[in-house]
Formats: sequence, C-alpha cells, structure tokens
Amino acid sequence: MDILSPLFVGNWKMHKDAAATASFFEAFRALIGSQSRCDVVVCPTFLGLETAVGATRGSGIRIGAQNLHWAKEGAYTGEISGAMIRASGCSHVIVGHSERRKYFGETNESASKKMVAALDAGLTPIVCIGEFERKNAREVIAEQFSGCMGMLAPGQFAKIAIAYEPFWAIGLGDAAAPAMAGEAHRFIRNQVRVKFGEEASRNVRILYGGSVKPVNAEELLAEPEVDGFLVGGASLDPASFASIVNLRTPSAP
Ligand code: PEP
Repeated sequence: MDILSPLFVGNWKMHKDAAATASFFEAFRALIGSQSRCDVVVCPTFLGLETAVGATRGSGIRIGAQNLHWAKEGAYTGEISGAMIRASGCSHVIVGHSERRKYFGETNESASKKMVAALDAGLTPIVCIGEFERKNAREVIAEQFSGCMGMLAPGQFAKIAIAYEPFWAIGLGDAAAPAMAGEAHRFIRNQVRVKFGEEASRNVRILYGGSVKPVNAEELLAEPEVDGFLVGGASLDPASFASIVNLRTPSAP
C-alpha cells in the first residue's frame, strides 16, 4: 500500500513548560529543515499550545492538543473545548489515549463524543485504540473501533486519523514487533473497509504508537500498513524526533 504520505505526531504528555516548548522548536526546526514528504504534528500541554503555534509559524509543523471536552462551553471546571483549542491555532487533537482511559476514566463513549466535538470545531482527531494487555488484541480493537468510530458518517470518518497503540508497548520500553504492528494495522484497516468501504480504508492514516525510537522507527515504517507514528518519549528530544521525521525527507534513501 504505502500511498499515503506519513504522519508523525509527537505526544509530549505532561512535559515541557512554555519556555522549554520554545527551545524545542528552535532546535527541531533547524534539524528538519523544510521537509515536505511527511506531515508533522506536535502536541504539547495546553499551556504550551500558543507558544508552539507561534514558534512553528511559517513551517509545515502543525500543533495539536492532547485532549478536549465534548461540550462547546459550560460548567466543566478544568476542561477545554475544541473551539478554544482551534482558536489557539491548533489543527489536531488526540482522543481516547490509553493513559486517559486508564487514569481519567475515558471510555469509548466519551472518546466518541470528543471526536465529534473535535470535528465540529474543525480539528483533526487522532483517535487512539489498542489493547491493554498482550492478549485479545483483535477483540479489544474491534470493540474500541466500533465504540469510538462506528457511528460516524463517512464524511466525518474521512477527516480522522487512527493511532494503534498497544498499551503494553507505551513508555520507552519494547515496541511491538513490526510484523505484529503490521498485522494489527491490517486488522484495523479491514474494520474500516467493512464499515466505511474500500476507499475510506485506503485513505485513512493508521499510525503506530508505543516505544517508537530512532533505532526502531525505520523497520516499523517499512511495514506497508504503517502510515506514521504517534511518538511519546522520543518526541521530547529535538534530535531523536527529527531523526524519526527525517526518515521520509527527500535526502533519505
Ligand atoms: C504515547 O504516549 O502515545 C506513546 C506512544 O508513548 P511512547 O512513545 O513513550 O511509548
């Protein structure tokens, strides 16, 4: 397959204040130059979003949030809406990350509401699915796929990206073996085909996430079903994230 340009997304989780965000981009922009054969999105903390948007102006790098609330506004102490995120200059938002499922009670239902709210706000949701333990992957993926995305209209589905993130691989430990990631991606793409049709299955980007590092990125990206990465720990360092992003620069083999 491999017809889609890769998408590389950095998820900074609860790391880097605004000053550290600004210095990251100063170094990162110099390292990636004006690469254009892939798309790059970085998701800092909420407090770093505006700094990140300012620091990437004029580059191809886009900025996303790590979460949103499904309501447009209201009495939801501590929450941020899609419209607010969009107004800060972001284009993307992560939805349904396994850490939000594990620590903050995110469910397929809440992820689904957030995804629709993101689309309504003009944001591209990067929807995370993946098994928690090294078992029953297909059952969990199928359940999360239909619970999160099953009710979308085809036009809505066309605007999302999916990240396959097995929870057991997250956190700079061992990534899934490339063949295993490839198989999970194939399974997800088939779910898309069954639900939304052949064209949707060819056009949706399915990212792999879980301990992607410069040392394993090339092998994982060589899997034809892997359309890019959602990168946590390795996206915090400009050099390591740049070496992942630069896998698809014009000068790369
Ligand atoms: C993540 O948080 O989405 C992630 C994949 O983290 P890491 O790359 O650190 O495993």
